[in-house]
Amino acid sequence: MSKPDLVKLTDAGLYCEQGDFYIDPWRPVGHAIITHAHADHARPGNTKYLAARSGERLLRSRLEPTASIQTVEYGETLDINGVRVSLHPAGHVLGSAQVRLEKDGEVWVISGDYKTEDEMTCASFELVPCHTFITESTFGLPIFRWNGQATVFDEINRWWKANQEAGKASLLFGYALGKAQRILSGVDAGIGPIYTHGAVEKITQAYRESGISLANTTYVGALAKGTKFGGSLIIAPPSAQATPWTRVFGTVSTAFASGWMRIRGTRRRKSVDRGFVLSDHADWVELNQVIKETGAERVIVTHGYSGEMVRWLKEIGVNASSFSTEFEGERDELQPSQTEADSESEPEGADQ
Ligand SMILES: [Zn+2]
Repeated sequence: MSKPDLVKLTDAGLYCEQGDFYIDPWRPVGHAIITHAHADHARPGNTKYLAARSGERLLRSRLEPTASIQTVEYGETLDINGVRVSLHPAGHVLGSAQVRLEKDGEVWVISGDYKTEDEMTCASFELVPCHTFITESTFGLPIFRWNGQATVFDEINRWWKANQEAGKASLLFGYALGKAQRILSGVDAGIGPIYTHGAVEKITQAYRESGISLANTTYVGALAKGTKFGGSLIIAPPSAQATPWTRVFGTVSTAFASGWMRIRGTRRRKSVDRGFVLSDHADWVELNQVIKETGAERVIVTHGYSGEMVRWLKEIGVNASSFSTEFEGERDELQPSQTEADSESEPEGADQ
């Protein structure tokens, strides 16, 4: 007889009945294990939280000030009502964790969001072998393949420099938590001054206080009136695009850094001059590699292109199904329709 499932889907989210706790619940519960501080995974209102220690400061900045947060080091094991629980690096954003659950020799891993390319703003992804793997699939289509980040940062630096030579400011949009800090970790700060939107500055400060070293930044709101922005790089969240906030920068070139920039139509609709394909999520190749290497006999897909991913996994003989969750992948970024993603699958020229 097969063992009972360690995680099931409820109205409040992913629930481990044996241990009586939830993982990234979307309704208030008693005991919540949080994989990372993005808003679709870390919601306020829970009685108790458990999270990875390296992300504590970031998580606190997102939850109610009185939140009761217990933290553990990656790999440290807790016994919660007879379930062995440990958190392992997901490589997604600072403090992001995969949750490993074990009971009676059965191991489940809930990935949260993850990527496998090493970088400076968070601990590197750890492959955790398991019997059942619950995976995201934000970019779970074959068209999503990333270039190495060194190539992307080189493109960003060249764009910034060219704008500088033309006397323009460079206004780069990227999600405030994670993406903005990766940009700061990769750009050549020697090119010119770097300015930030308030939302980016606040989270960047939490990263620095957590021990992550990032390029120096100045908060735009702290500058004297009449400051000239020509030649500078300004980093702002996507929500700031086309708002009055952007008017003070003079002549600008705009760009967007996101995995969605892999799709041309998205770039058009974002009305930016340039798109840089930089994501904090696994691409198609990474998703497939991780799913295979966990050795999981069973795979449950939670968000993104879950229907397509399940269909693909079944085709290659994996026992796959999906959970319909409220996780969103890269929030605050325009997600294209399925039809568009399918119709724009040819490779793009480097100058587009
Ligand atoms: Zn996330």
